[in-house]
Amino acid sequence: ETLDKGLEKSKTTFLSKMGKAVAGKAKVDDEVLDDLEDVLISSDVGVATTIKIIRRIEERVARDKYLGTEELNEILREEIAGLLSETDSGTGDGFTFPKDKKPYVIMVVGVNGVGKTTTIGKLAHQFKQEGKSVLLGAADTFRAAAIDQLQIWADRTQVPIVKQKMGSDPASVAFDAVQSAVKQNVDVVIIDTAGRLHNKVNLMNELTKVKRVMQKVVDDAPHEVLLVLDGSTGQNAFEQAKQFTAATEVTSLAVTKLDGTAKGGVVIGISDQFQIPVKYIGIGEGINDLQVFNKFEFVDSFFK
Ligand code: GDP
Repeated sequence: ETLDKGLEKSKTTFLSKMGKAVAGKAKVDDEVLDDLEDVLISSDVGVATTIKIIRRIEERVARDKYLGTEELNEILREEIAGLLSETDSGTGDGFTFPKDKKPYVIMVVGVNGVGKTTTIGKLAHQFKQEGKSVLLGAADTFRAAAIDQLQIWADRTQVPIVKQKMGSDPASVAFDAVQSAVKQNVDVVIIDTAGRLHNKVNLMNELTKVKRVMQKVVDDAPHEVLLVLDGSTGQNAFEQAKQFTAATEVTSLAVTKLDGTAKGGVVIGISDQFQIPVKYIGIGEGINDLQVFNKFEFVDSFFK
């Protein structure tokens, strides 16, 4: 229900465009497919993924000979769910914490403003509700505001935070945070990192160093590198995903701000193109407005 609400704008926009694309047409023909292609691209699914989806529908039209336009939504839903399954995207479990990986170390990356801090706060809240102990590490040391914001979320969720003063070495903060989690027997450590995309080499060096230093404490850390993307920026989110996946090994995605945007299709395209599972989606500013991503529920609330 919250998901439906969060995706309302994407859905109504999509369905209305779809309605126009098939208006007055009984069967799916080349013209309908062309229009459908435009609809998918303008819904920020991305060109490459759109082409894949259109191909799949063309194959179906060829196989079944006749495809009624009234079935198109249902078929799109099936094909897109199938496409997302190929990335193993969003089984609906979110992060799970194996017993032998304690503390479970999550390093969070993404450019400033995408909702990184908010997502960390929401995750801390969720994990606590699951009965896990959580600790935050403020390794985005380049902006005082980033440290302050994380502190606010630490207070709000009542979890400990490890921080240093602005300008200190991010790797040193990450080291302290992981070490402190080990000492305190904490289940999950979430490390915020700086979101500067000034250039690829610097970003790569910085993230590599943070990783290397935390590995001095927990040798297989980080267990997750979560990239946070702002879904409302559409194609910009693709661009950021490209840059971060080139700079470091991203293991999972969180797509934020899907409420209030019509660009929800971005989730489908990003998950397909980067072959990285979307684990969480942000559908509001509140502490509970983070959902574990489930591809079937997502696709359902989009097309039904
Ligand atoms: P950061 O710079 O990446 O750490 O970004 P913040 O976490 O500070 O978030 C930037 C702004 O986006 C804040 O005003 C957040 O409340 C807002 N925000 C974050 N996630 C969501 C979301 O899922 N939906 C909406 N509507 N706003 C969000």
